[in-house]
Amino acid sequence: MATDSFTDPFALGDEIGPSKIVYIRTPSVGLRAVVVIDNVAAGPAIGGTRMAPDVSARECFRLARAMTLKNAACGLRHGGAKSVIFADPTMPRPDKEQLIRAFATAIAPLADYIPGPDMGTDETAMGWIHDEIGRAVGLPAEIGGIPLDVIGATGFGVAISAEVAAPFAGLSLKGARVVVQGFGAVGEHAARFLEKRGARLVGVADIGGAVVNPDGLDIEALAQLKRLGKSVAAYRGGRVIANEALIATPCDIWIPAARPDAIRADNVERLDCRLVVQGANVPATRDAEGIMFQRGIVSVPDFIANAGGVVSAAVEYSGGARATAFAMIEEKVGGNTRLTLERARAMSVPPVEAASQLAIDRLRKMMELRRWR
Ligand code: NAD
Repeated sequence: MATDSFTDPFALGDEIGPSKIVYIRTPSVGLRAVVVIDNVAAGPAIGGTRMAPDVSARECFRLARAMTLKNAACGLRHGGAKSVIFADPTMPRPDKEQLIRAFATAIAPLADYIPGPDMGTDETAMGWIHDEIGRAVGLPAEIGGIPLDVIGATGFGVAISAEVAAPFAGLSLKGARVVVQGFGAVGEHAARFLEKRGARLVGVADIGGAVVNPDGLDIEALAQLKRLGKSVAAYRGGRVIANEALIATPCDIWIPAARPDAIRADNVERLDCRLVVQGANVPATRDAEGIMFQRGIVSVPDFIANAGGVVSAAVEYSGGARATAFAMIEEKVGGNTRLTLERARAMSVPPVEAASQLAIDRLRKMMELRRWR
């Protein structure tokens, strides 16, 4: 089990939060979990339930804070939270269902926390939680959910963000060469929505390898490989390269959509693009953001570019439909991308700094309206 090193939980956090850190133990079913509700000034907090053996409460807090900033930046009526069930997500399904249902009953009194899917949990898990306590987002379509990974809510937002950001980098999406690291829910949909807007996918990677072709890759053929359980490296119409080499592929737009810290001080100089749109969570270190800024590469931060999923979840929670979700993603993600890049240009700072300030300013205004901040 992941344990916490901190002995004084009150030492964690700042004037924004967290408002609650709740440890859960239900020994009869082997449940051990932590819930961090960071800030609820805007309303009940939405944040994923992760199932993993090795996430500390401190890490959970960091993830909850990221949700606070993302939700505040989007002006959603939801605060930020995160929870972790300390367990192996690949356990047999009946055991997983029992554990998740036990988790649901344990969080029932935490009315200001709305769980959503995250690593190791999915829409079925959210269906179980909703069945227990009537509160969860990212639900199966059959019970009124908007299946955000199926419709590509986050990938759609990434494409909108790229479209708005392109002129700031002296680009147009028509004919723009795009590289995507990660061909999962976010990466595949981002590639598809960008292609619809005239861009061309010239490089892609998944955990099994990477493939490039300056003349373009066939996204449907790549998706077919994925459906067959194969890596994109099995694609026949391109040159297979090492995963680490993808960052140096000449392109206009480079999209990290896989893992944290993909762009770091030790590899950022290899980027050969004008625009980075962050689909993954925390894919660039702060050092790397600074270097991209110095090099004139426009970088749209994660909590601005990848908010499509949580916007869709918020629409679902308020009873809205898929079309409303798409319209709201376009408005929120597109609008925030423009505002962030305009502010960054005016202040001459990396976009991540301008975006953080934007989110914190909105959060402070919301907190001023609350009796207890
Ligand atoms: P996913 O599991 O569907 O896909 C991840 C992809 O990344 C897979 O193709 C995998 O093979 C690939 N990958 C993993 N390690 C890699 C490596 N070292 N090099 C190259 N490729 C690698 O996950 P997802 O839902 O698409 O999420 C991707 C990222 O976006 C994660 O950081 C996630 O936290 C973040 N995110 C997802 C959503 C969402 O709505 N799904 C929303 C916001 C942020």
